[in-house]
Amino acid sequence: MDLNDLYRDVIVDHNRSPRNRGRLPQASRHAQGDNPLCGDRLRLDVDLDGDVVRDLRFEGSGCAISTASASLMSEAVKGRTRTEVAALFDAVHAMLTGGGGDAARLGKLAALAGVAEFPARVKCASLCWHTLNAALAGSAQPVTTE
Ligand code: ZN
Repeated sequence: MDLNDLYRDVIVDHNRSPRNRGRLPQASRHAQGDNPLCGDRLRLDVDLDGDVVRDLRFEGSGCAISTASASLMSEAVKGRTRTEVAALFDAVHAMLTGGGGDAARLGKLAALAGVAEFPARVKCASLCWHTLNAALAGSAQPVTTE
């Protein structure tokens, strides 16, 4: 099995069995994201404890990439501080836009590296991150990738 197969398996797995899916009644932050180019929609509940993302859940409908990305993101940011989340977002953004990104920092999120070769899908993968940023910023405005 080469690296591409491994990455594809991670995406298929997270699309079929998304982690942290659903609602979080005690969430202190919420945000809604929309990627009209593909039809991906996402709702994010974040339980922010001081500076730490204690827990989060996502709900929505979208393509395999958007679902897998939200699932991978939910695992990656849980328990992290806002500063750590921002650094992770920078690494993901660099990876998705072909800038490589910090592989050591990315961990499983590196499974989405192949998306950089499909510019139309970059927004599918980044929607959840923009939505998370809005939730952490306390923005009531729905996020759109347009
Ligand atoms: Zn999509």
